[in-house]
Amino acid sequence: MDDGRTYVHYNSTMPFILSLDEGTTSARSALYDERGCRVGMESVGFDCRYPQPGWVEQDAREIWRAQMESARTLLACAKIGASAIAGIGITNQRETTVVWDRATGEPVSPAIVWQCRRTADFCSDLAASREAPEITRKTGLVIDAYFSGSKIRWILNHVSDARRRAQNGELLFGNVDTWLIWNLTKGGVHATDPSNASRTMLMNLATGEWDDDLLRIFDVPRAMLPRIVPSSGVVGETAPEHFGARIPIAGIAGDQQAALAGQACFCAGLSKNTYGTGCFALLHTGRRLPVSNNRLLGTRAASPDDTAQYAIEGSVFIAGAAIQWVRDELKAVTSAAESEALATSIPDNGGVYFVPAFVGLGAPHWDPAARGLITGLTRSTGRAHIVRAALESIAYQTRELVDAMQDDAGEPLRELRVDGGAAVNNLLMQFQADILGRPIVRPVDVETTALGAAYLAGLATGFWKNVEEVESFWRAERRFDPQMPAGVRECLFGEWKAAVARCRA
Ligand code: ADP
Repeated sequence: MDDGRTYVHYNSTMPFILSLDEGTTSARSALYDERGCRVGMESVGFDCRYPQPGWVEQDAREIWRAQMESARTLLACAKIGASAIAGIGITNQRETTVVWDRATGEPVSPAIVWQCRRTADFCSDLAASREAPEITRKTGLVIDAYFSGSKIRWILNHVSDARRRAQNGELLFGNVDTWLIWNLTKGGVHATDPSNASRTMLMNLATGEWDDDLLRIFDVPRAMLPRIVPSSGVVGETAPEHFGARIPIAGIAGDQQAALAGQACFCAGLSKNTYGTGCFALLHTGRRLPVSNNRLLGTRAASPDDTAQYAIEGSVFIAGAAIQWVRDELKAVTSAAESEALATSIPDNGGVYFVPAFVGLGAPHWDPAARGLITGLTRSTGRAHIVRAALESIAYQTRELVDAMQDDAGEPLRELRVDGGAAVNNLLMQFQADILGRPIVRPVDVETTALGAAYLAGLATGFWKNVEEVESFWRAERRFDPQMPAGVRECLFGEWKAAVARCRA
């Protein structure tokens, strides 16, 4: 295939790890060599459907086909046979819910995507109920339609005969990791890992097991749930017809936990932030179960061994999407990349603050009724100020998450490792370091999600010896140290907070 992509060709007997990175808009496959270097990557997109306002669906069969097409194209382009692959790691969009027929493998409904709000009413009633504090205590999660439990309940209540069939063990539930593994093994393995299971709202975060009280609350029969297996470990082998030989499936992690592993954050105190459409910040807490006083989420990290490991997670809904908005709606820039040069053309934001609360505010505010605003406009405000304020909003929102995390963890962050599409913006990264008062470090390989899944599979198969070896692969491409005086930093952050207060419902 001559499309400008470069493939490094190796002797076909050399082993590689294959990473299957199934995201919200595309399925990607990547190959890594023994030094942890990516030698090729392929991506195949698939559709999202919005049948009603707030509803988001995908076709699970299409996800499977896209994933297989990307993997087969990758292996063909890289001229790698299945016998040269030591193991497969899988990472996936989290929370997205698939229910299928155990006998035929056919999904009984469209997959309900993590963004889908169809169960919001049920969840707000649940959040107001007597059971709410116990649910949050057990799961580490804030009650919300985002997580899988209410989505499974919806399918069982709306698909004809589904509840009875699920109780009889005729229907199976899985997040996308489980769905891919079930298909890769031709129905031989029905399993997930703790990092995915901790996002269903059905797993007890401390024990790592499905919880009977939670199953009762969400009305989910135990018979349809996958086995929870370690994130790093051989769970089964691919059926030979998929790649021409059996390959061990040896790593599983939800996308954000995979990114944490891909940033080599394997121990307490290390953290990463992914700057994409939204931001996802995770702080590893080691073997300590996190309890948030700031409405952040407690979640399982993808452990490289059999121990239970945890992270605190916070997310910002609109981050890079604010840059898309100034590009597509305001037409202030023609590309996201142009935002950097335009923002650099002025010395500061000129007193302009942009709170992009387009869909309410996420952690730590959790205010679904808040709406966006731009403050501080004067006659001399120009498009550069608006664009700069949009970029700065990403850093300020991250500061709010990091402050909450530090408070929960009881200690300051050492440094923040960054990835995602907007992490290439140097002005944003320097401003982030300044506004946090902490160093920001950007690695050479920013495809951390696929890399993390590869690490988990490589460790399980002995492809890599131990975590220390994997950690040695992580290389900083650039480090941004804080340069702003503390007084200026806190003054700016105070002005941001005043703008946020004005946009609250
Ligand atoms: P996702 O995985 O959420 O689709 P990506 O990690 O691909 O997101 O990042 C895309 C986002 O990053 C977009 O919202 C885009 O506006 C933003 N982005 C891309 N390049 C830049 C840049 N140079 N400066 C600021 N934002 C950028």
